[in-house]
Amino acid sequence: MKVARAVDDHPILSALFAKRDSCFVTQAIDGAAHRGYQKWHRELDDEVVQLIRGNTDKNGDDFLAFLMNLIERSDIKARFPKWILGDGKMFLVVNQKPSGGKIERYRTDFHYDDSVKKAGTARCPKCQAFVGMLEPVPPYKVRIETWGIGFGDLAFWLDDFLVTQRFADEYVKSGLRGLGGFVSIEVLSCRKHRKISEAFPQYLRTMPNHGSAKIDAVASGIDWGVGNENRCDVCLSGPGVLKRWKSVVVDESTWNGDDIFYAFGIPGKLIVSSRFASWATTHQFRNLILEDAKSSSHDFYPMETITPH
Ligand SMILES: [Zn+2]
Repeated sequence: MKVARAVDDHPILSALFAKRDSCFVTQAIDGAAHRGYQKWHRELDDEVVQLIRGNTDKNGDDFLAFLMNLIERSDIKARFPKWILGDGKMFLVVNQKPSGGKIERYRTDFHYDDSVKKAGTARCPKCQAFVGMLEPVPPYKVRIETWGIGFGDLAFWLDDFLVTQRFADEYVKSGLRGLGGFVSIEVLSCRKHRKISEAFPQYLRTMPNHGSAKIDAVASGIDWGVGNENRCDVCLSGPGVLKRWKSVVVDESTWNGDDIFYAFGIPGKLIVSSRFASWATTHQFRNLILEDAKSSSHDFYPMETITPH
């Protein structure tokens, strides 16, 4: 395809949009293309290719700005797949526990210092069941641990995470929803498993909203070890324990439009919208690995499901 080829040929853009990431940009244009190589589309292709060839800025900002403006143009808007415009309901989950290969390059974890007290947690507005973990009480004193060759823009500890100042600044500009502000923290130590030569970034604590949507328990194949009846219809709390799920399917009728959130039904699974995913890809945030929610399964009791030979 013309545009993808032009990106590949471009020394800066090709590095910027590595194979996987380029999907976000070209899939939309490809999608439109497959509906027929019409005149408008040939013209658009030429416009994009010309821009790419003439693009010499260091970080590809001009190209991204062009694409962002492009999808706002009404003649184009009608021809793009919905989700890339941000009004499509596609969800991804954040891989909070990356392991192996490329992912480890920027893996960054943290934990609270023992001196940090823990207090209340989020509760279901209907049945008052706990729906999150205990909240640490400020001042937030943390210890950071890195595993790779650079600092992540996100650092994880169970449900909790820190973000860099760069992430926070971009988020504020983005118009995305779901994070409840950014709070400063005190870093007591940083343990590096590999040498890092870059400067230590400033980290901030942020917390996404709880219950911005409910998980569709049936479509997700959630197994609580007991039947699905007798559960709170808001937060899905009830008998049994969350043993496994086959998929993370958001009940779209319950979604409040947040772009990053925890859903009722699968606590601690950080979910983001397609809008968030496009934005995060644009800014190349480190240690933020996104997976298609629908193909994200988990089993806390794998021994129970091993079939004997
Ligand atoms: Zn409830």
